[in-house]
This record gives sequence, C-alpha cells and structure tokens, in this order.
Amino acid sequence: MNSEKIYSSIFFLNISKKIQNGYEDYVSWKNPELSGQKGFLDLIIIKNMQKMPGVFNHLHKGDLKICFYLENDILYTVCGSGEIQFQILEAIIEDVIIQFKLFYQQLKENYKLAFEGLLDGFKTQIVEIIKNIATKVKLVHCFCSACNTNISLYVKKSLIEANNVQFPVSIAYIHNGHASLVYLDRNFYVRGIEIINITE
Ligand SMILES: [Zn+2]
Repeated sequence: MNSEKIYSSIFFLNISKKIQNGYEDYVSWKNPELSGQKGFLDLIIIKNMQKMPGVFNHLHKGDLKICFYLENDILYTVCGSGEIQFQILEAIIEDVIIQFKLFYQQLKENYKLAFEGLLDGFKTQIVEIIKNIATKVKLVHCFCSACNTNISLYVKKSLIEANNVQFPVSIAYIHNGHASLVYLDRNFYVRGIEIINITE
C-alpha cells in the first residue's frame, strides 16, 4: 500500500473533547477526495459507548475499519476502508496525538481566549500525517502454515522503537478466519510464527 493508496482509504478523522453530555468536536476532518458519510454513524455510537482510556480499540464492520483512542478526555477516531490494516490506523492516531497536543498548546499560548475556533486549522496537518504515514510503519513478510500463504503485515515502528520493549515483540495477525502470532526482533526480522487460538 503506497501513500496515495493509504490516503484514499481513509474516510475521516475526528478529534473530540469529552463534555458533560457527550463529546464536542475539536476537529472533524473528512477526506475531500471521497464522497459519502461512511462511518459517521459509528462515530456517534463510539462517542456514546463506555471507553477505556489509553487503549487502542478496533472496530471492523463490513468494509469499514475504525480505530479509536481516548486520552485525557480527548477522543481520537480514524475510519478507513476494510483493506487497511489496523496498525496503519494506530500509527496515524499516534502521530495525530503528538502533533495535535503541540498545535493545541501553541494556539493556547498565542491566543489565550477563544482559540478553540481555530482548531480547524489542524486539518492541514492531518492530511500531511496521513500522506507520510508509510514512514511510520514497516511491512513484514512471512509464511503462514495454516493457510499456506505468504502474508504481509504492517507493524508500527513505535512497537519496536518504544522504550522498555521486550524482544521478541509479538503481533497477532488475524486473516482468513484464523490468527498467526508473529515474533519480531529489533530489526523487524521475523523470529518465529505460530498459530494461536482466538475467540471473540
Ligand atoms: Zn494463515
């Protein structure tokens, strides 16, 4: 998946702040190249459901994949097509969190009052983040003996590069109705792969 393909697979990105009776939109970005309102109903459902802070949540519904993350009462949600891997969506959210915090802080310092109306300016950065996300993930290839196929999965570089990482890093790749647990070393080399039992 190249950068253009990734960009055209992202439907929307939403940043909202928890308020007394729900969420208030800070930034509501919709891919200008795509028509329709894909996933917007699910965003309402996500806003209304109980959420655990500090955890990446995945929602796979038909041809939609949605990833959301709650931190300090701010909800980050990104929605893409079914073919995009969740690691890419997580990488987008990680980058958005870092850059949005900076953007927010700078606006607050420069404008003191009524700066929240200017948060929309972050949309330009969202486009940049998505278009450059290929540099934040690594494509890993291995062979799955359960389905006898070569599989290719994206892995966030932050999984390997974060502090206190224990090697090998493991990632479960769910595909063709089963899951493979792939072990990676610090160079993203596959050190092992096994089929694991899953349930939902
Ligand atoms: Zn397989």
